[in-house]
Amino acid sequence: MKYISLLGATGSIGDQTLDVLRAHPEMFKLSAMSAGRNLEKAESIIREFKPELAAVISKEDASTLQNNCGSSTKIVYGSEGLREVAAFHKSDILVNAVMGSVGLLPTLEAIKEGKQIALANKETLVTAGHIVMEAAKKSGVSILPVDSEHSAIFQCLNGEDKKEAERLILTASGGSFRDRTREELKDVTVTEALNHPNWSMGAKITIDSATMMNKGLEVIEAHWLFSFDYTKIDVILHKESIIHSMVEFKDTSVIAHLGQPDMRVPIQYALSYPKRLEHSGGRRLNLWETGKLHFQEMDFSRFRCLEFAYEAGKTGGTMPAVLNAANEAAVEAFLQGQISFLQIEDLIHETMQAHSPVAHPALEALQEADRWARGFAVSLL
Ligand code: NDP
Ligand code: MG
Repeated sequence: MKYISLLGATGSIGDQTLDVLRAHPEMFKLSAMSAGRNLEKAESIIREFKPELAAVISKEDASTLQNNCGSSTKIVYGSEGLREVAAFHKSDILVNAVMGSVGLLPTLEAIKEGKQIALANKETLVTAGHIVMEAAKKSGVSILPVDSEHSAIFQCLNGEDKKEAERLILTASGGSFRDRTREELKDVTVTEALNHPNWSMGAKITIDSATMMNKGLEVIEAHWLFSFDYTKIDVILHKESIIHSMVEFKDTSVIAHLGQPDMRVPIQYALSYPKRLEHSGGRRLNLWETGKLHFQEMDFSRFRCLEFAYEAGKTGGTMPAVLNAANEAAVEAFLQGQISFLQIEDLIHETMQAHSPVAHPALEALQEADRWARGFAVSLL
């Protein structure tokens, strides 16, 4: 039995992680969880899975939930609460599925306690990749990717000599607006942006997919997870999301990972690794039904956020944290109707331009850069 701490249990990855736990009760047990503001859903998860510990954001919500759920689950709150859940002494694995760089400190806490990490929260690695990877190495902890592209690459590299791999090729579906010109992007609405063709995900990552920032964050995530230079990480448009990513080797062979777009598969693999388990609710991939797979070269002038992400990654230091924080602030402003879709890019670009990056930052410098970038981006609204 593996005991699981799940951060972001009320979100989209949270939902699908709970599905995996439901499908394999003999293998996994939820021992601790966190929710954000969705108390109703948190309560229903607590009633079903009976974790020993749960965290929410505010003290008031914690006391409401404690009254509603009884004393068998201890309810904690705030950033301290998230850290408690991440490092819960009975848990073996932390599934980090919160949204945003709020996931960083709990990840570090769990690593310190020797928990294996199943990482969905890419903002953690984008903000502080060198610190997280160094901490994991020091504690002998493995970070298993949940993000489908990284899970794919991880599997393509399995059993291979990594030194023989020349290039990582991440696939991108293109998001909600892949067939629109920049001119047609000027007046798009939040509702249109939230309508992803292939994946059903949380609001922030759905917008990130439409701006292509999601792929940008994934390039930085891949750089840290697999220690590949940015010049050796490519992105290709592939609208069907059937090939989840590929690795090219020095003999020109390319290994690809294929499957239906279903996040429960990489989530389950991160939990069961190195074993594979049945996926009873899963759809098999029948390529004759799919018929054709399409690929297209990435157009960086069409998707400026991807270019910003490569630039931030190559600059390094505090710049990726600034890119990420500015993006979180800009996406929130777009979702609130404060800026237009294309202004997301402008806000990120201006924030990056105003930042003087610090090389080899410690955790405090990264947190300061994160705070500064959010404040600066908001001041531009
Ligand atoms: P959702 O928005 O659906 O869920 C986010 C979760 O985090 C919710 O449980 C939410 O709580 C909680 N949360 C949000 N803000 C805070 C906060 N400040 N403090 C504490 N908890 C908070 O997001 P997704 O599940 O889609 O994505 C989660 C992460 O996984 C992101 O980093 C995303 O990039 C990554 N990811 C997602 C994929 C997907 O298919 N969805 C694929 C690959 C990666 P509540 O709802 O209760 O307020
Ligand atoms: Mg992904």
